[in-house]
Amino acid sequence: MFDKQCLAIIGLQWGDEGKGKLVDYFAKDYDAVVRFNGGPNAGHTVYHDGKKFGLHQVPSGVFREKQLVIGPECYVDIRKLFDEISMLVGYGFRPKIYLDKNATMILDNNIRYDQNNKDKGIRTTGCGVGPAAAGRASRIQPTAGDMASAFAPFKEFITISDTWFLLRFWLSGGQRVLFEGAQAIGLDNIHGDYPNVSQRCMTGGIFTSFGYSRRLRDSLEVLGVAKAYVTRSGAGPMPTELPPDEGRMLRELGHEYGVTTKRARRIGWLDLPQLRKAVHLSGADSVALTKIDVLNGYSRQAPVCQWHKCGSAINAYPLSQSKIDTKPVYKSVETESKPYVKFVEAQAGIGKVSLISNGPGRDDILRRPDEGW
Ligand code: GDP
Repeated sequence: MFDKQCLAIIGLQWGDEGKGKLVDYFAKDYDAVVRFNGGPNAGHTVYHDGKKFGLHQVPSGVFREKQLVIGPECYVDIRKLFDEISMLVGYGFRPKIYLDKNATMILDNNIRYDQNNKDKGIRTTGCGVGPAAAGRASRIQPTAGDMASAFAPFKEFITISDTWFLLRFWLSGGQRVLFEGAQAIGLDNIHGDYPNVSQRCMTGGIFTSFGYSRRLRDSLEVLGVAKAYVTRSGAGPMPTELPPDEGRMLRELGHEYGVTTKRARRIGWLDLPQLRKAVHLSGADSVALTKIDVLNGYSRQAPVCQWHKCGSAINAYPLSQSKIDTKPVYKSVETESKPYVKFVEAQAGIGKVSLISNGPGRDDILRRPDEGW
């Protein structure tokens, strides 16, 4: 249903929007699936043949047996990558991964440091990504190219490459490429709720990774992914958060527990100002709204935050990124797909909801009808 040569799937909230399922679903129409950000701290869930898989570093296109790329802005934990590949091989898959020579390696001391500090301050996943990024900024961190020989035991599955060159070759040859965003705009290191953020999560990472070529620029379409409510795994502002006892039932219905950490996710109502900002920053041409079945199973009507109030100012965003100084203003909306989607769409700046996801299964995806709505 996406006509352009390339598609980027980008999380619009704080991660866990259901990107993995959409990548797996659409991968059938593309020749390659590319991870361009994040590392083992990302967790994407995909159901394949009725079995649930949690992927962290291997792109979600693996189940469709596509060419896979881990780009230069990614972080790599070699042991976890080997474990993930071994698990997939155990199920009969043969991943074919091109790993960029400039990707940053995560070392044991990075993981130890992160583990010792993960429950202080921002509650990270403890995978060592932040300390490895600090090492990269200090120019002391090894790259995949520096450690190429360590990948030898898995050379059947991993090729260390200049992935910009591969992309250029594929694009000029007419091959279709799907870019899989990890984490989400709300967790971007610059535009997210700093310091409660991850590394870079912006769509622009595709261009800084593979070059701002005219072909790539003109052939790229962006699908933003948002849940019908919001969840957040780590600490940080969440203006529409439900008190823990009220969020519990929605959490159970939506199985809102981290793929990487197994931690219970914080739960809140859909926050349209947050979504509007993310749609703008991501350049989303359209939005996929996921888990509408969960919201509908929870209640027939749900509050949606239409704007934020800061004193008497409307539509204000929190001034401080680390504390909430705005109050959400809610409107109650019917949770049936049609009225809910129409309400979300009608909010200026959100654009078209092109897809509705109403179940965890690969095929629980509805294309929003153009007619009759
Ligand atoms: P990702 O990191 O964005 O890929 O999201 P996660 O994999 O962390 O979390 C999404 C979870 O929701 C997974 O368990 C999916 O199987 C599940 N899921 C995705 N879309 C839907 C949906 O429309 N309805 C329901 N009930 N579950 C969904």
